[in-house]
Amino acid sequence: MNKVKVVYSKLYKEFGPQGWWPLTIKGNKTKHHVGPPKTDKHRFEIIIGAILTQNTNWKNVEKALYNLSRNNLIDPDKIRKTGQEKIAQLIRPAGYYNQKAERLKIVAYFIENNSNPKRQQLLDVKGIGPETADSILLYAYQKPYFVIDAYTKRIFERLGFKEDSYDGWQNLFTNNLKEDTQLFNEYHALLVELGKNHCKTKPLCNKCPIIRICKK
Ligand code: SF4
Repeated sequence: MNKVKVVYSKLYKEFGPQGWWPLTIKGNKTKHHVGPPKTDKHRFEIIIGAILTQNTNWKNVEKALYNLSRNNLIDPDKIRKTGQEKIAQLIRPAGYYNQKAERLKIVAYFIENNSNPKRQQLLDVKGIGPETADSILLYAYQKPYFVIDAYTKRIFERLGFKEDSYDGWQNLFTNNLKEDTQLFNEYHALLVELGKNHCKTKPLCNKCPIIRICKK
């Protein structure tokens, strides 16, 4: 079995199924929801989350999402018609709030005019890079795009892999796995779990489930 598959099976054995990322707002928190988004609102919630999570952690995103939800703004039409300053204040907890408010308005307009976007169309939208585009495609539209984030690069560099670009890292996974949305979804979530619990900036290798195949 290739190393990419070995890592997956070890992490799955250790952490179990994650059913990540689709979420729904519940009370003043977001709640994981297993499976594809059920409504357009739910899909838009995921798209907003993919933008808000740029350069911040999920706890801050939750607060911003909750503020938007409380103001009935998880809706592309309403985001488009609401003043940028008001949106910026509501999403303040997610940081870079002026920039992200502008991005939310741009993406709301885009989504209203593109109900089933292609990757290149998303990449042409201001503020959407490859990681955000692939998160939107994988989690909001259930398309098989492997998401490469900081955890993924850090873990696989420590495992001995080296790539120079986002596409290079993505090819490592797509060339070694079957093209499967659910698998890509689970694998990304498992890497986040490993990154949060063991493979931190300063790694805690003692109880790491893949220590035997790690080169660090
Ligand atoms: S053994 Fe340590 S460095 Fe290697 S993947 Fe695990 S936590 Fe990261």
